[in-house]
Amino acid sequence: MNANKNEATAHHCESRLVGCSSDEEPGAKTMFFSQIEIPNQLVSNRSAEFMRRYFPLTTTESWNDWKWQLRNAYTSLESLSKIMRLSQKEIMAINNLKGRLPLRITPYFASLIYDTRPSHPLRRNVVPVVEELLESSREQSDPLHEKMFSPVKGIVHRYPDRVLFTVTQVCSNYCRYCTRSHSVGKLDKPGRQDYERAFNYIASHKEVRDVLISGGDPLTLSDDMLDYILSNIRKIEHVEIIRIGTRVPVVLPQRITDGLISVLRRYHPLYISLHFSHPSEITTECEKACNKLADGGFPLGSQTVLLKGINDNVPVMKELMHKLLKIRVRPYYLYQCDLIPGSGHFRTSVRKGLEIIKGLRGFTSGYAVPTFVVDAPGGGGKIPLLPNYVVEHTNEHIVMRNYKGVICEYPEKQS
Ligand code: SF4
Repeated sequence: MNANKNEATAHHCESRLVGCSSDEEPGAKTMFFSQIEIPNQLVSNRSAEFMRRYFPLTTTESWNDWKWQLRNAYTSLESLSKIMRLSQKEIMAINNLKGRLPLRITPYFASLIYDTRPSHPLRRNVVPVVEELLESSREQSDPLHEKMFSPVKGIVHRYPDRVLFTVTQVCSNYCRYCTRSHSVGKLDKPGRQDYERAFNYIASHKEVRDVLISGGDPLTLSDDMLDYILSNIRKIEHVEIIRIGTRVPVVLPQRITDGLISVLRRYHPLYISLHFSHPSEITTECEKACNKLADGGFPLGSQTVLLKGINDNVPVMKELMHKLLKIRVRPYYLYQCDLIPGSGHFRTSVRKGLEIIKGLRGFTSGYAVPTFVVDAPGGGGKIPLLPNYVVEHTNEHIVMRNYKGVICEYPEKQS
């Protein structure tokens, strides 16, 4: 049904499709967007041009309605090929996705990539390529063994004082490197009974002081459903903080409405963990969404997956971290890409991650330096890694190398 709506609208514009690809090679360059702003509405000029071409009868109000965005998401080869000149590798991949992570791209995110080349970093995030169909023997569908640590449906209890609570399998866009590609996008929707069992599990485990609500993307749920989930968790006295993991401000910023903010504000202290992969994701719309969240009093952190050809170099990563701080989002984790099936084309060496951290630490504000972690295969949890700054460590002293390579000493004996 969603695809049909797209198709109906896009069909009127078919004559304009010629020339929709650009000669520009955006690569790691950042796109800048000017904007049209009317009360409570925001559309960048880039999105406005996309609307003019492919949704000429759609109003700005509809475009800025997150439910409209979800209804009109691109979910098929047929609909996507009406707005993008797809490569053979992309076509072959989309044709063979059966049972794998589905295709889903919001019109908003499509407006950022529709005229790009296949190598564009934002396009690679969401448009599958044929390499995704190739699996290596080291890859596993559940590399973090979440199922093994799941006492009841939806709960993963791996660490002593906190749990992960997956409340939906739906996302507004599907990231091609998703760690939970084994479960997200599937029809296995949790029901009220599943939620109740999860609340009971948390309530009966007094050691749980932190609940991370994730998915899928929790912010694809309605305000009422979020209210129901959050109020039930907040009732549990030993839960001190709640976190929500979401990519919505990046791929569906229209979802950050005043109504959503007023629901979330009831459940402080509430932290929001965002997920960014490239500086070009920080558009005027995304900035506005993050500002609304920050103004709502939610501490914002960002997780980034290290991705080959997308963000695996110091200048791009530094630009991303700087832009995040400017929109009041604190870089939190940089993840080594997990060993999920068909992710070989996204994975870099671990050495690359260390090289990036070395290129950031000392050269820019400490706030702009995330913690580089490998989520250990087999369920070993997150392991932080640092470049080696220690030259020698004895009972007498520690000898260290600073960010410029200068050797420094600090005594271990305090007398
Ligand atoms: S938004 Fe998160 S859960 Fe959804 S596909 Fe992307 S990485 Fe996976």
